[in-house]
Amino acid sequence: MSSWESQFQEESERLQAQGLLRTLFAVDSEQDTTITISGKRLLSFCSNNYLGLANHPLLKQAAISAIEKFGVGAGASRLVSGNCSLYETLENEIATFKGVEKALVFNSGYTANVGILNALIGEDDWVYFDRLNHASLFDGVKMAGSRLRVYRHKDMDQLKKLLSERPSLHRAMIVTDGVFSMDGDIAALPDLVLLANQYDAIIYLDDAHATGVLGENGKGTRAHFDLQSDRIIEMGTFSKALGGFGGFVAGSERLISYLMNKAKSLIYTTALPPSVIATAIAAIQLIQKEPSRIMRLWDNTATLREAIIAMGYDTCGSETPIIPILIGEADVAMAFSKRLIACGIYVPAIRPPTVPKGKSRLRITLMATHTKEQIALLTSSLKEIGSDLGVL
Ligand code: PMP
Repeated sequence: MSSWESQFQEESERLQAQGLLRTLFAVDSEQDTTITISGKRLLSFCSNNYLGLANHPLLKQAAISAIEKFGVGAGASRLVSGNCSLYETLENEIATFKGVEKALVFNSGYTANVGILNALIGEDDWVYFDRLNHASLFDGVKMAGSRLRVYRHKDMDQLKKLLSERPSLHRAMIVTDGVFSMDGDIAALPDLVLLANQYDAIIYLDDAHATGVLGENGKGTRAHFDLQSDRIIEMGTFSKALGGFGGFVAGSERLISYLMNKAKSLIYTTALPPSVIATAIAAIQLIQKEPSRIMRLWDNTATLREAIIAMGYDTCGSETPIIPILIGEADVAMAFSKRLIACGIYVPAIRPPTVPKGKSRLRITLMATHTKEQIALLTSSLKEIGSDLGVL
C-alpha cells in the first residue's frame, strides 16, 4: 500500500472511531415527503426541498420540453457556445423577482459563492464573517486570501468593534447567510446595513435558504425586512426551495457585467444543461403564482416548532423551516437518528466538522407538503426516543 493509501485508511479509521465517518446511501425514489432508501420507505424531514417542487409535474414537464428542444448537454461554457437562450429568460425572471437590474446564473450555489467572492475581494480587503456562515462562503474568502475577521454568531457588538479596527485604506465586506443553514435563524440584516453604512462596507448575502421561503412570495431576507440598500449583493440557489439546481447573483448591471468577466467559476466551466435552466424558470414562476405553498410551509413550521419547544428541546433559536434539536455529543445524535429511522422517519444527525464539537444535533427541515399526520408522527417519536436516550 502506498503511503498515501495508508494515510487514507488511517484517517477513515480515526473518523470511524470518533463516530464521524460519513458514508453515502442511495435514494431510489422521487424527493417527496417520503423517500425510499435501500427498499425502505421513510418519512423525510431532511431535504431542502421546502416547497415540494423537486418532483412537481410542471417542473418535470419544463425539463422534458427543454431536453426535447435543446438536448441534454450545453457542450461548452456560457462564454463560448453554451449560453442557451433559456438563460436570458431565467436571469430576467430573477432580476424582476429580486427587484434589481440584472442577475447572473452559476452552476451551483457553491461555485457561485467561490467564484463571486474571488472576483470581488483580494488580499488587501478585510472580510467580516459570521462564525456560522456556510462552508462555501468560507472557502471563497480563504481562496481570495483576504484578511478574515470572524465574529460570534450574530454578535453585532463584536462586529462593530472589529469594523472600527480596520485601517481606512482597506475595503470592507461583511459576509452573512440570510437564513443560517444549521441553526435556522435569520441574519440581523437591518443592523448589518446600519454597520455597513457607518463603516463603508458592502454586504455579501447568501440567500440560499431564504429564497422561496422568506419575505413576500419568497423573495428572500431583504424582502423579509423590507430593506432597500445598494450595499447588499445577494446570491441565492435554485437547489433548495426552488426544487432544482444552480445558483445566482442579483444586483446592478455594473456588478453583473464585472462578474461575467471575472468570476472564474462562471468562465471556466461548462454551462448548465438546458433542462436545469428550464426547471428554474418554471419554479420561479410557480412560487409567484401559488403563494399558498409558502404559507403552508410556515404553517407547518409553526406547528412543529411549538410542539418541539413544548417538549423542552433546545431549537438553537430557529425561526424558519430549518429546526435543529440540539443533542450535544455526536454518538448520541447518531443513536437518536438511527432510532428515528427504525420508526420510519429520516432526520439526519449533523456532527462536527459541520457544527462545532459538542453541538451535534438533529436537523429537521420541513416541507409545505408535509401533512399534519406526518408532523404528529415525528413529534411523538421525538418525545419517546428523547426520553429513552435521556436527552429530554
Ligand atoms: N449556501 C448555503 C447557505 C447552503 O446551505 C448551500 C448548500 N447547502 C450552498 C450555499 C451551496 O448551494 P448548492 O447546493 O446549490 O451548491
